[in-house]
Amino acid sequence: MSDKVETKEFKTESKRLLDLMIHSIYSNKEIFLRELISNASDANDKYHYLSLTNDKLDKTKELSIRITPDKKNRTLTIEDTGIGMTYEEINKNLGTIASSGSAEFIKKLEEAEKSKNDESIDIIGQFGVGFYSAFMVAKKVEVETKSPFSDKAYRFSSEGEDSYTVEEIEKEDNGSKVIVYLRDDTEEEHYSSYLETYEIEGLVKKYSDYVRYPIKMLITKTVPDRDDKGEIIKDKTHEEIEDRVLNSMIPLWKRNKKDVTEEQLNDFYKKKYYASEDPFVSSFVSVEGDISYNALLFIPRKAPYDLYSDKFEKGLQLYTKGVFIMDKCKDLLPDYLRFVKGLVDSSDLSLNISREILQESPDLKKISNNIEKKIIKELEAMKKNDFAKYKEFFETYGQFLKWGIYDNYGMKKDLLQDLLIYKSSNHDDYITLRQYFEEKKADQKTIYYATGASKEAIMNLPQMDAMKKNEFDVLILTDNIDEFALQMINKYEDMDFKPITAADLDVSSAEDKKKVEDLKKEQEPLLNKLKEVLKDKVEDVRFSTRLVDSPVCLASSEGMSFGMEKAINELPNQEKVKTGRILELNPNHDLLKAIEKVYANNPDDINEYASLLFNQALLIEGLPLENPSEFSKQMVDLMIKSAK
Ligand code: ADP
Repeated sequence: MSDKVETKEFKTESKRLLDLMIHSIYSNKEIFLRELISNASDANDKYHYLSLTNDKLDKTKELSIRITPDKKNRTLTIEDTGIGMTYEEINKNLGTIASSGSAEFIKKLEEAEKSKNDESIDIIGQFGVGFYSAFMVAKKVEVETKSPFSDKAYRFSSEGEDSYTVEEIEKEDNGSKVIVYLRDDTEEEHYSSYLETYEIEGLVKKYSDYVRYPIKMLITKTVPDRDDKGEIIKDKTHEEIEDRVLNSMIPLWKRNKKDVTEEQLNDFYKKKYYASEDPFVSSFVSVEGDISYNALLFIPRKAPYDLYSDKFEKGLQLYTKGVFIMDKCKDLLPDYLRFVKGLVDSSDLSLNISREILQESPDLKKISNNIEKKIIKELEAMKKNDFAKYKEFFETYGQFLKWGIYDNYGMKKDLLQDLLIYKSSNHDDYITLRQYFEEKKADQKTIYYATGASKEAIMNLPQMDAMKKNEFDVLILTDNIDEFALQMINKYEDMDFKPITAADLDVSSAEDKKKVEDLKKEQEPLLNKLKEVLKDKVEDVRFSTRLVDSPVCLASSEGMSFGMEKAINELPNQEKVKTGRILELNPNHDLLKAIEKVYANNPDDINEYASLLFNQALLIEGLPLENPSEFSKQMVDLMIKSAK
């Protein structure tokens, strides 16, 4: 064996990356351990894979990873039993940047370091910059390695500057040993914390818990001495060394799907998200194809308190090959499914890929589309098999489904419309659009709905009179988003949607219509007078065919309904809108007779009556009065007058 130490220059790109690492202000330097463990795991993978077909490699060898902190020498060693590197491989793999993500990464990191702002600082964690990340914490890194395809073993050594050395060494076993010589501690950075076993254990749990090889570490424990009978002797201790496996290795989602029960999924969910109740949905997805991945998806029983805030961050955790990449990968979920929790693990996404590249990745888009479909399927199944649970789900998250229809300009209506459920005037329980359609009257072409604060308030709307009389079912809409979603759906099975307040609602019999026509002719002067008095407030005053008990109501002229007017006007920073109002009078109500009398005897009083009628109609509709104190005064005057 020669004792020659060769010195070699890094390639230009490597120099830049190393320089950036060495001078990095990145606050999350701990990820170097994740990167080195991930390399060790890959090396074990390669060994395992080759051993299947190559007799030179011992198939029975235990593949593992060992971490050894050495406080005396300030070194942290990560050792694997994997494929190792030949002399050529050392130069090719460690002397040059192999991965394509790194060039992009260098650019980003340089920008981040220049602007020194915290937002940009997260990028290292997202990239997975590999081996060189060790130089964020190391003043020197050595790699002792032996490949089964070489008789010789080598030591790579570098202080991260322009060059590295390679020399031959004695090493029996195949695999690599990466020795990180930690930098001296500074005010800001206590590199020596990486030598504490509890710290290492924590980092492994956080980043590498699901690496599929045991990550072992010797841990020295102080344990109490015991006497012959096994009783603890007070104040006497000794040290014991335990060889501990730090990671839990095979995660639930890597198991065979058929071996995982719903109960196990629920338990996993409760532990991971500190929940006390089972989720509405827990789903195990396992896809093999041009992009393979496993996913666990959950719909929590309780919505997080900030789900409705625009600060809420949706997303699923992303792993590749059991290595944790990011916490909230938002590209994995459409906006309207922001309430879904879970994780995706794909071996087809490279660690060395930037967040930007990831976002544009068609693979991610594909996974996201599949997840969306999967969730919709789960919801359909819940609706069919456990309607009580589905109702509870819908009361918690239903408005997001409506939002999904609205937000995508109706593109998702086919996917989502049959998941919507509504209260309705003729049913005590929720119904679907399908059920409405199936129960419609033979010649009914319209799905009727009404908006309001509650079912009770809506049932008392004057416009409900005719609907009740004719036994039309009416969907009860209480969410602001409801009507917008229906507009996007536009038609369900060729039926259009109409609010019961629409002026052109046609629900009355020919006989009623005729009666009103006649009355209109007869009372033309009165109608004209009311119209004139209210000309700034309403587009028309007319006799109604739809009122039974109520004296008046408002109808909305074409365009927006009152519900939408209210919803839009409640939005912040939105210009106020107003839909056209039509005042309808009940031709059969005693109040009309009273007004006729007033008009005949005291025509001057008609102004006040008109104003009172209009304001009442506004109140019934839940619309704000223009001048409440005037309304009150008119009422009072009238009461005093009638008592005289
Ligand atoms: P990546 O692992 O993403 O390819 P790295 O910079 O971390 O990028 O590593 C570069 C290459 O060095 C790896 O692709 C691998 O071939 C080699 N390598 C790194 N660590 C080890 C190891 N522990 N055992 C064998 N080869 C390794």
